[in-house]
Amino acid sequence: MLTFKKMHPRPLEDDHFHDQCGLFGVFGHPEAAHLAYMGLYALQHRGQESAGIAAGDGKRLCLEKGMGLVNDVFTESRLEALPGDRAIGHVRYSTSGDTLVTNAQPYLIECHRGPIAVGHNGNLVNAAILRQELEAAGSIFQSTSDTEVILHLYARSHRERLEDAIAASLSKVMGAFSLVFLTPEALVAARDPWGFRPLVLGRLDGAAVVASETCALDLIDAEYVRDIEPGEVLVADAGGIRSFKPFPPEPAAHCVFEHVYFARPDSLVFGRTVLDSRLRLGVELAREAPVAADVVVPVPDSGMGAALGFARGSGLPFEWGLIRNHYVGRTFIQPRQGQRSLGVKIKLNPVRQVIEGRRVVLIDDSIVRGTTSRKIVRMVREAGAREVHIRISSPPTIGPCYYGIDTPLKSELIASSHSTEEIRRFIEADSLAYLSHEGLLKAVGDPAGRRHCTACFSGRYPVAVAVPDESQIRLFEKARA
Ligand code: SF4
Repeated sequence: MLTFKKMHPRPLEDDHFHDQCGLFGVFGHPEAAHLAYMGLYALQHRGQESAGIAAGDGKRLCLEKGMGLVNDVFTESRLEALPGDRAIGHVRYSTSGDTLVTNAQPYLIECHRGPIAVGHNGNLVNAAILRQELEAAGSIFQSTSDTEVILHLYARSHRERLEDAIAASLSKVMGAFSLVFLTPEALVAARDPWGFRPLVLGRLDGAAVVASETCALDLIDAEYVRDIEPGEVLVADAGGIRSFKPFPPEPAAHCVFEHVYFARPDSLVFGRTVLDSRLRLGVELAREAPVAADVVVPVPDSGMGAALGFARGSGLPFEWGLIRNHYVGRTFIQPRQGQRSLGVKIKLNPVRQVIEGRRVVLIDDSIVRGTTSRKIVRMVREAGAREVHIRISSPPTIGPCYYGIDTPLKSELIASSHSTEEIRRFIEADSLAYLSHEGLLKAVGDPAGRRHCTACFSGRYPVAVAVPDESQIRLFEKARA
């Protein structure tokens, strides 16, 4: 789910691409809202700005949502206000300009078909055009989100059956969507025909469970059944589970960045264990870009899996040379002007005993703007490193994502306009190497590159954006004014 607002740098030196949403759904369990709460808790890494749960008892739907972490938004009494055996939940990440509770999901609307709630992970590339058409036809939008377009299309559908109306509205949208819908009678899960974002089906005590990642199933002791397939619409209601594929098939385009960085390492994503992918990324990187060094140090937490793989592949020792403070929240008071250099230090602290006098290989998943990498290199040098070598477990990120990932503008991506040698000089490293495109695909088990989207590395976008990004932003800022 993308809102149409210009991207801004993250606070506290957070220089990564970010997933924008996590989804959960359950049908047929007496503890539905509590399970949704637990599921969202496990998916918190996919979105930290808002959290919400819609629940139903067969007659009505109730919604609780707010700004903040799952634990901040939900209290016992808020969960008690969510009765019934069916629920959907959503966690959202957003850019700093979009801190509006109206953009928090799930959305719950009432239309001539009755109430319906929806949670979305992904981004629709033709939402701006559809919104323009809908507004011209009299639709009134309450948020700046592309997800609302789906609800307006659904409300306008004349199809009788719920799943047919949902399928008809989704057949008009283009781009990335993993979705959970809830009506008083049914839970519906849907995934776009390219399968950009993950969505899995699980089972718990006879209840159907869906989630963005299997780590949510693990926490509630649900059994993983299978992935919801690209282009599949799955319905769980009193009649059981049924599914169909209403959209024309498209070539698979699973987001490879889920394996590089977004997904939790303990999850199974697109049928593969994420930790295994990250280890292989590191092994490939060591094979492609070896370096004479004394110690392999991960940039925590993002470089952990690849650093273990690099150590395995290179035979160099792996050591904890940087320690991360996990308790830095987004509400931390920003350092004063004179303390700006504290930015990275608040998050990371070098271990002098590991680093001093040694040739250090630092492993990270990506370089976005380059400013954070430079600060980390300086920090490691100041801790006494003799040499600092940077190895990145993905190719240079040269373009933004249009499929549901929070990315800076292309002009802000250092690799979009600088060579590897220029970036090395900018970040002040003794050497810098990225994993190749071939190495990336090999590590995720897709050497022919037939199943994954790699657009932010290759510039080859599987689905064209219907209008230029800047036009989308202008259109929606106008709509919001
Ligand atoms: S452009 Fe990059 S981040 Fe976006 S879906 Fe493709 S691989 Fe993932």
